[in-house]
Amino acid sequence: MKLFLSGNEAIAFGLLEAGVRFISGYPGTPSSEVLPAAVKLAKQFKIDGYFNWAVNEKVAFEETTAASIANIPVAFVAKQVGLNVAMDPYMNTALVGSDGGLVVVVADDPGPHSSQTEQDSRFMAYFAKIPVLEPSTPKEAYLFAKKALNLSRQYKIPVMIRTTTRVSHSKEDIEVGRLSNYTIKAQFNKNTDRYAATPHFRYLLHKQLNEKIEKIKNNEFEIKTYFSGKKLIITSGISFAYLYDIITEYKLTDKLTIAKIDMPYPLNEETLHRLTDKFEEVIIIEEGYPVIELQFRKECKGREDGTVPKEGELTIDVIKSILQKLSIMPEEKSSKLIKPPFKRPSLCPGCGHRTAFYAIKQVFKDDAIYTGDIGCYTLGLNLKAVDTVHCMGASVSFGFGFQKAFGLSNIKKPVVATIGDSTFFHSGITPLIDAVHNNSPFIVVILDNSTVAMTGNQPTPTNTYNEDGSKATPVLIENIVKAIGVDFLKICDAYDFDCMEKALLEAKDYIENYSSPAVLIFRHPCIYTTEGLKNNPRFKRVFVDEQLCKGCKICIENFECPSLIFNGSVVEIDTTTCINCGQCVVSCPFDAIKVEK
Ligand code: SF4
Ligand code: SF4
Repeated sequence: MKLFLSGNEAIAFGLLEAGVRFISGYPGTPSSEVLPAAVKLAKQFKIDGYFNWAVNEKVAFEETTAASIANIPVAFVAKQVGLNVAMDPYMNTALVGSDGGLVVVVADDPGPHSSQTEQDSRFMAYFAKIPVLEPSTPKEAYLFAKKALNLSRQYKIPVMIRTTTRVSHSKEDIEVGRLSNYTIKAQFNKNTDRYAATPHFRYLLHKQLNEKIEKIKNNEFEIKTYFSGKKLIITSGISFAYLYDIITEYKLTDKLTIAKIDMPYPLNEETLHRLTDKFEEVIIIEEGYPVIELQFRKECKGREDGTVPKEGELTIDVIKSILQKLSIMPEEKSSKLIKPPFKRPSLCPGCGHRTAFYAIKQVFKDDAIYTGDIGCYTLGLNLKAVDTVHCMGASVSFGFGFQKAFGLSNIKKPVVATIGDSTFFHSGITPLIDAVHNNSPFIVVILDNSTVAMTGNQPTPTNTYNEDGSKATPVLIENIVKAIGVDFLKICDAYDFDCMEKALLEAKDYIENYSSPAVLIFRHPCIYTTEGLKNNPRFKRVFVDEQLCKGCKICIENFECPSLIFNGSVVEIDTTTCINCGQCVVSCPFDAIKVEK
């Protein structure tokens, strides 16, 4: 059967075909489609299993590890920064190993396009001493997913598949095998030396891990070569695909040979050394950090000597410019990088977050420190209501840190942290406990849109359903906040400016007089969810009264809805994007924005 699949869908198919029956993870671009694709395939081919998002990556990794110890073939899915969150169980699982097989699917974001770092997860494989396979096409992603599970089962070791944005999101016709159901049989062979190991046994587990890695290094994955030039390029992943195309298109086949590495760690450097001895020059081109280069340990050109840029995505144009610098291919005018004009990302027209940020700014102006978090609401930056964005949950811990720092200096500085519902569940609860326990007065605004909007509207623990459509028990944020011991809690609809303004003023007063955090929940479903589409109050028409509009652009600057456009003299509403939510009405000091009821 032939299917047209993206790299992420191909991984899902390969995992299910190889026998994986338990997948957990946390959504994050560019990895988010793997788990939903598995859910879809499981439904289509009537495959039993558990395929759902966890509250965060650490939890997901622990859940999958346990299921793998219970002899179920499993997979964990995350983006590169998600693996950071799972590092604690991940490092230990490398030592303990897996019985049913454990595939660690990590998608990296070189560029980066939608991440706070552009780290290379292959180093995480090196660090934990687990093999990593790196596909260069969606077809290889499918094949390597199957190979990864088999390798994991054979050596009882987690195996990573590392993709990058371009492999995850490109599509290809792939000849796939059959998906069929089987009866899942869990078993647990008690062995405290392994599963509850004391330090002495940890040392032995480490020894076993080193032995496994040595065997895998010497027995798995040949190094394939292509073309017959005198210079050798060692490469892997998407860089191989780009190089292959460039060499073929520019007829460089008698100048260059490519050695393709499918398993960047553990690298069989002895075989590679024997191969490279025949060439007059060796260049290593790999997407990310110098993982192959550092293991190669012989003279070569690459990232370390500056031949390959040390940061940014290795696009086809960047690789061409490397070859031009090395005089392997001639300069060409058309190879100059053409950058499209920069367009600032902004919250969607009608997004409830915008009104919430607007209310925050109206109350605190430039007097507060605004700690933000990861999600759509990072775009509160545009409304000048976000000063810091660090990592998942850091809005609350940064809020705590800033409040204590200014408190120590006897300076009264209001701090307002903004965090989404999913991020609150992921990593916001623990710092809020710290804030209550350590008497830290600052404001935490939970922007609850009841979905993980930025990565494609995955469900959160507030929903009554799971990714696979099964019924889930909703966990209410207000119950958690109250259980933590927060005394000041107010809830408003994020479309209700007056309610939010009043709550913010009361919270401001509270943190000035009490030594405890104030929590506000501003709730409105993302307009891209069924709930959002159903519940959004719409007016017949929102329009600008030209007689009243002074062309001051205050609404554009302070409210920043993409549908508000300045035509040179007055503001107009772009009716092709405006959803007639009427939220912008509050932003005009001259009452020029009107709604038709
Ligand atoms: S996707 Fe939803 S939450 Fe994100 S900016 Fe758009 S409306 Fe707001
Ligand atoms: S009504 Fe106003 S805020 Fe809502 S989408 Fe239209 S211009 Fe934007």
